[in-house]
Amino acid sequence: RDEQISTIKAAIEEKNIRFIVLQLTDIMGASKSIILPVSQIEKILSNETMFDGSSIDGFARIEESDMYLYPDLSTFLVLPWKACNGYSIARIICDVYSPNEEPFEGCPRQVLRKALEEAKGMGYEFYVGPEPEFYIFDRDEKGNAILENNDKAGYFDMAPLDKGEEVREHISLALEEAGFEVEAAHHECGPGQHEIDFKYADALSTADNIMTFKYIVRKIADDLGLFASFMPKPVEGIAGSGMHLNMSLFKDGKNIFFDPDAKNSLSDEAVHFIGGLLKHSKAITAVTNPIVNSYKRLVPGYEAPVYIAWSHKNRSPLVRVPAKRGTSTRVELRSPDPACNPYLALAVVLKAGLDGIKNKIEPPKSIAGNIYDMDLEERLEKSIDSLPISLYEAIEELAKSDTVKGALGKHVTEKFISAKLDEWDSYRKAVHSWEIEEYLKAH
Ligand code: GLN
Ligand code: MG
Ligand code: MG
Ligand code: MG
Repeated sequence: RDEQISTIKAAIEEKNIRFIVLQLTDIMGASKSIILPVSQIEKILSNETMFDGSSIDGFARIEESDMYLYPDLSTFLVLPWKACNGYSIARIICDVYSPNEEPFEGCPRQVLRKALEEAKGMGYEFYVGPEPEFYIFDRDEKGNAILENNDKAGYFDMAPLDKGEEVREHISLALEEAGFEVEAAHHECGPGQHEIDFKYADALSTADNIMTFKYIVRKIADDLGLFASFMPKPVEGIAGSGMHLNMSLFKDGKNIFFDPDAKNSLSDEAVHFIGGLLKHSKAITAVTNPIVNSYKRLVPGYEAPVYIAWSHKNRSPLVRVPAKRGTSTRVELRSPDPACNPYLALAVVLKAGLDGIKNKIEPPKSIAGNIYDMDLEERLEKSIDSLPISLYEAIEELAKSDTVKGALGKHVTEKFISAKLDEWDSYRKAVHSWEIEEYLKAH
């Protein structure tokens, strides 16, 4: 820690850092921060930065609202852009603590830490590589985002058809400057849709990285006069944006999902992990696909999962096992979208997988064919069930699942369910343009 502190102090001098952004994530997955001038560095480093927890969604009640930010010094980052007057800004991600110096149970990082501790107790390290997708839109003269862009390209297209290529380059460079190992950046199916993949890491770092990634993507797009959105389905009729999670468990530095002697070179742990994911998939969905709009993405026809099944090749199911073996053996969960809170999402998928391992849950047989081509009868015959079709249905599944509620803990479960029911209620009462279109004249 002393070493980290001296590195930070040296960077402050060298890089002319004038502000420190203390960043946290609320239960709903929104980034929050307070910005302190560097003169406050001693206070920051001694965990004395206080804030009003009652003002943050899903945190504390007014009566017990004093909360403290404990910066995780390993997340210190000089942001890849400058403040006014050319000064640099640094960012540190924080854990939230209550006044009695206990980690706050409503802090999403704490929820993930707990799940990781359980994995560690079983000898496992959880590694995750995400594949975040997003759209880049134009702005109107007033600077407001509009659902348009001058991009007519599709999957893997190249410039000049791909107008986003330059934007992606700007974003990738900024990410690299911020220490990301960008592995691939490409145009996605939708016009104006992109994916940038960065290297997998331990789950806590990955969740932090996802929050940092979204921050950087949005900021760079904004600087270019554009607008980046991680909304799961911004435009009807074209591809939605997912955030596939590639997961593996390591023991003693080795990927234990790989077993050269087993069927398909997949270890029992890998197969049972999949069994757990599939078993709990309905309840998990409330967390991995947490907004009303998430369910407009999970429909047939857009490479987003709808059915609860797994496959080695086909991309239509919920879980896919990519062909790579050895250290790269992994299980890809295709339902999550980038609106999720990554800390909570990784906590619930891990707990579901661990439950599979502990209870040796066998997944149903893997499906080779395209499930979208099967009719209802064929799906019933193969007992292929579907993911929840609405936020409400997903919340009901969550409320029934001790595994997922256990992963979130009492505080987060209660706040999450009540906020999501409010969100659903507000949506349910709204009269949508689809209804006007269909019914106004007809009735
Ligand atoms: N956009 C798709 C989704 O919603 C994924 C497309 C892909 O990566 N091949 O998950
Ligand atoms: Mg991909
Ligand atoms: Mg993709
Ligand atoms: Mg993928």
